[in-house]
Amino acid sequence: MTNIIDGKAFAAKLRAEIAEEIKRDGLKPGLTVILVGDDPASHVYVANKDKAANEVGINAKTIKLPADTPEADLLGKIAELNNDSAVHGILVQLPLPKHIDENAVINAIFPDKDVDGFHVINAGRAATGQDALVPCTPLGCSLMLKDVLGDLSGLNAVVIGRSNIVGKPMANLLLKENCTVTIAHSRTKNLAEVCAQADILVAAVGRPKMVKANWVKDGAVVIDVGINRQDDGKLCGDVDFAEVAPKCKAITPVPGGVGPMTIACLLKNTVTACRRIAN
Ligand code: NDP
Repeated sequence: MTNIIDGKAFAAKLRAEIAEEIKRDGLKPGLTVILVGDDPASHVYVANKDKAANEVGINAKTIKLPADTPEADLLGKIAELNNDSAVHGILVQLPLPKHIDENAVINAIFPDKDVDGFHVINAGRAATGQDALVPCTPLGCSLMLKDVLGDLSGLNAVVIGRSNIVGKPMANLLLKENCTVTIAHSRTKNLAEVCAQADILVAAVGRPKMVKANWVKDGAVVIDVGINRQDDGKLCGDVDFAEVAPKCKAITPVPGGVGPMTIACLLKNTVTACRRIAN
């Protein structure tokens, strides 16, 4: 029978473990989120992060800046937070207004406080197998895969998507777990056949229900990162869940799969950053 991976329950368990760890070890982790502008979706995401962090015992604060904030002022704010010993995690909510260079902003964050894991130093550490702060979404996928499969060693993994925030860090995490990893993307030839070789298939594309049953090997574990809004207003993933699920050993639904794990992993990264900075 197919195991539908309950990301909500998994994230709730992870948050409870984080809360317990903070209490048990008397940690005082601090997280500051910077939000520039008035994008409504970003305001909702940031409010959710703030609430989840405070609930587990992280001292979370949000700094709201107007949309016309000069890049230099934002960089100045980041420099202040880099030097604030009570702040262990700094996150700048993306996207930023067009006049601000996102890469310059991300790379201004002290790498050991970069709880989004987007800084080039963290990407480089992850790519060279060193301890890194890893982007939250792939970290969540990796935790769920290890929970379902235990040892991932020697398994064939295919990741569809090569973005810096999902596809590439996901592939690095799977390589670290000794999988044989293929990264597929928009130029990949015979994508269905490539995917059908996978014991682990991760879809991070942004195309509704693209992955069909004949793309998936019997007994594969499928992680669907995609979030797509359908014409009827409902959300769906990159995987055609109805036809793929019966073939899988386990699969994440959308919504309720990968999504809830992303914020839980931000809390996990904040605690990791707090411990590293304290040592
Ligand atoms: P990007 O748009 O940055 O990357 C998409 C990737 O998919 C690219 O590498 C692109 O290839 C590839 N791609 C596009 N079309 C095809 C195709 N027809 N066949 C094969 N590959 C294709 O997206 P993100 O990585 O940021 O996000 C991917 C999805 O995950 C989105 O739906 C996003 O909303 C969701 N997401 C969900 C999160 C969560 O918390 N659950 C968090 C982050 C993202 P190429 O490089 O060649 O252009």
